[in-house]
Amino acid sequence: VRAPAPDRGATPMMAQYIEIKAANPDCLLFYRMGDFYELFFGDAEIASRALGIVLTKRGKHAGADIAMCGVPVERSDDYLNRLIALGHRVAVCEQTEDPAEAKRRGPKSVVRREVVRLVTPGTITEDRLLEPGRANLLLAIGRRKLSEDAYAYGLAAVDISTGRFSLSEVPGVELGGAIARHDPREIVLSETIYADPILARVWQDVTAPVTPLAQGELEPHAAERRIKAQFGVSTLEGFGTFTRAEIAAAGAVLLYIERTQIGARPPLNPPTREANGATLAIDAATRANLELTRTLAGARTGSLLDAIDRTVSASGARLLAEHLAGPLMELGAIARRHEAVACLAEDHVLRRAAREALARAPDLARALSRIGLGRAGPRDLAAIREGLDAATAIAGLLAGAEALPADLATLAEHLRAADPALVAHLRAALADELPLSRRDGGFVRSGYHPEIDEARLLGQDSRKVIAALQSRYAEETGCRTLRIKHNNMLGYYIEVPQAVGEACLKGILRETFVHRQTMIDALRFTSVELGELETKISGASDRALALEASVFDDLAAQVLAQTETVARVAEALAGLDVAASHAELAVEQSWTRPRVDDSLAFHVEGGRHPVVEAALRRSGEPFIANDCDLSGEGRGRIRLITGPNMGGKSTFLRQNALIAVLAQMGAFVPAAKAHLGLVDRLFSRVGAADDLARGQSTFMVEMVETAAILNQATRRSLVILDEIGRGTATFDGLSIAWACLEQLHEANACRALFATHFHELTALSQRLSRLDNATLKVAEHRGQVVFLHEVVPGVAERSYGLQVARLAGLPASVIARASAILKGLEKAERERPSRPRIDDLPLFASLAPPPPPPEPAPEADDALGLLLDTIDPDAMTPREALDALYRLKRAR
Ligand code: ADP
Repeated sequence: VRAPAPDRGATPMMAQYIEIKAANPDCLLFYRMGDFYELFFGDAEIASRALGIVLTKRGKHAGADIAMCGVPVERSDDYLNRLIALGHRVAVCEQTEDPAEAKRRGPKSVVRREVVRLVTPGTITEDRLLEPGRANLLLAIGRRKLSEDAYAYGLAAVDISTGRFSLSEVPGVELGGAIARHDPREIVLSETIYADPILARVWQDVTAPVTPLAQGELEPHAAERRIKAQFGVSTLEGFGTFTRAEIAAAGAVLLYIERTQIGARPPLNPPTREANGATLAIDAATRANLELTRTLAGARTGSLLDAIDRTVSASGARLLAEHLAGPLMELGAIARRHEAVACLAEDHVLRRAAREALARAPDLARALSRIGLGRAGPRDLAAIREGLDAATAIAGLLAGAEALPADLATLAEHLRAADPALVAHLRAALADELPLSRRDGGFVRSGYHPEIDEARLLGQDSRKVIAALQSRYAEETGCRTLRIKHNNMLGYYIEVPQAVGEACLKGILRETFVHRQTMIDALRFTSVELGELETKISGASDRALALEASVFDDLAAQVLAQTETVARVAEALAGLDVAASHAELAVEQSWTRPRVDDSLAFHVEGGRHPVVEAALRRSGEPFIANDCDLSGEGRGRIRLITGPNMGGKSTFLRQNALIAVLAQMGAFVPAAKAHLGLVDRLFSRVGAADDLARGQSTFMVEMVETAAILNQATRRSLVILDEIGRGTATFDGLSIAWACLEQLHEANACRALFATHFHELTALSQRLSRLDNATLKVAEHRGQVVFLHEVVPGVAERSYGLQVARLAGLPASVIARASAILKGLEKAERERPSRPRIDDLPLFASLAPPPPPPEPAPEADDALGLLLDTIDPDAMTPREALDALYRLKRAR
């Protein structure tokens, strides 16, 4: 919303408003006027619609009414929350001087106002605006050129509500996956990157608001300078080496924080650099499809995260989500996490005690960040006190345990660093009951600061004096209902009923009582004596407030002097909560510790799907555990699964992908036994998922995504393909599924599960040495089918479509007619096979019979001859050979 043009007739206040608004055109301007934030012009229209508040008018501008609406300052958090959730940005403009000051400058001068902060989704710190268990990441993206048309992308992720700051770099094809992994609340980048057409698809998948910054502001030198200034260092070497793309991203993120926080500098942890390939690569489609952190419909309930979350603290919940989003690739680190879970799973006493203490510990990281930003209240100081205190208690618990595994020993060491002196000091200084805002006062414990006590006593004494005064005036007027009251407008005043009031005005007290206000049935007065008392009382309370404010600043400074320790304690508490959560879950659900190594094994015994199992449990049904073995070089590296709809194919596919994710994030797995060779990339696709929202043909989406798999999957990858090719006509679909299967088998050579309803494909196992068939067992009883959900070797005999249709409640007449049609079709098929049999179709090159000896090419096949000349079979990869074969087919 643009600022209105200046108008010469504007009042000084409106002129000030227009000037400030012009400097913040992309924000709604919250313009402070007394107890309200007011919005004007277009901003007012937007806000009144978004918040459902009344739109009014205030004066005129260039001859037209000025639209206005306002929100009370006290409740502004709620309104901010709703505007931010709708994707708006808000500039908060405060009065930065006492109105009395402005009056002194001259009758026409306005109170000075300044924008003190921009509130955007990625830069909020208030508890009421934040989701406790979810990180609030601001993600910046920079890039560097690798070659003519290839870039590497740097990502800087900052959570200013906790101080987390990480840097990483990914190749262009992985940018979408990396953004999805961070799940940012807001993204900032240069206009140039944003406008680059090669990234158009990436932005389509991004739901967070994207803020482009002018290229000119993102100079590399400036970026480096910003990082150094943030951390007060003269070189970045101490933090590690960063690529230019990472520096650019870090510069952009700090620039944006500077711009939105205006002067306040959040206490960020020094950037940690995450090497490319440090985490299991999972692209955006796979994440969505496996419903890792939210369901396809966008809810947390029903996701894997929701099913495994047994954390008891908000910071633990955030770390769990972070671990789930980025499972590890380093065997040592994975084993250490498993080690910690095993220890806590075995030691029930330790686990329970630790979880109880963790549940009491407040959110240290977020409190610390607010203190650093100068936005804290007394309760944030108390949170530091409670958090550090809990840390010391937990360190004691861990010290009592024998032989701690490495990760827990490190955690214990960090927890021990919590400074008991700081806790003791905070305990001595802070009262038991704390107000929300420091401005309210009353948070310093009595006995801590003699002058504060003195000022408070004075206040209390004066109140006694007022009570005495009230009795005296009551006596003098003979009015027993005379009261001395207080409100914000008048301060202290004397109130008497109408009739008595009239008498006072005329009678003996005419000299003493000064009339202030006439109400319907009462009159209000003040007196010299009362005025003097008031000055004394408010002087005392002002003085107490000022002293309390300085105590607050002093305590905050003491906390900030230990920022690094407190941050590390916060991390350790979260880490322990996550390990204990995994342990709790493992005990509760009989999950086991997986063996993860650098083999290419994938051997799961008695595997289960945590989310489906939980849903079945609620309806009292058992989940049938299934084995899955994709190990080794022999048969079964790729498993082709056929079976009726509703048989459990998708569940089986997904549960194995989830087991890999869980194992590598450091959790135990829902299986009786699991041995997994490290997975470097995980892919999961479902044929023809409804994707109308993106406006692309579903089949096109399916093919684009399948292409990504075939181009990227390595021998280490795990690929889950569910009904690929379903989105098009039968023969097209069959051919595509067929070719994909061959490619996966020959070129990618990865571990894969492939579910299909193209039964023709099962014959391929005769030709493809590592392909094996499996099916879901079905029992038939008097024409009724029962799905046993058991995965067994072999091929589905029938598709049981009619039985499923009957289960679904299709009318009996339709079922009867359909089975008659089916019989007819099957008969015709037997007599004149219309579908190609496997031997009639072209097979993969290396498996086809050896080519006939070369003959001189006939004249007409010149093109073919030329093509053949360019082929050198000894120098080709299987992939190139396949491509060449296709070229040859086309040339004919
Ligand atoms: P398909 O992909 O073969 O159509 P799904 O995997 O979607 O089948 O499973 C259909 C339903 O069958 C699930 O919603 C679940 O209720 C049930 N189911 C699947 N697998 C199992 C299992 N292993 N044990 C018990 N019930 C299962």
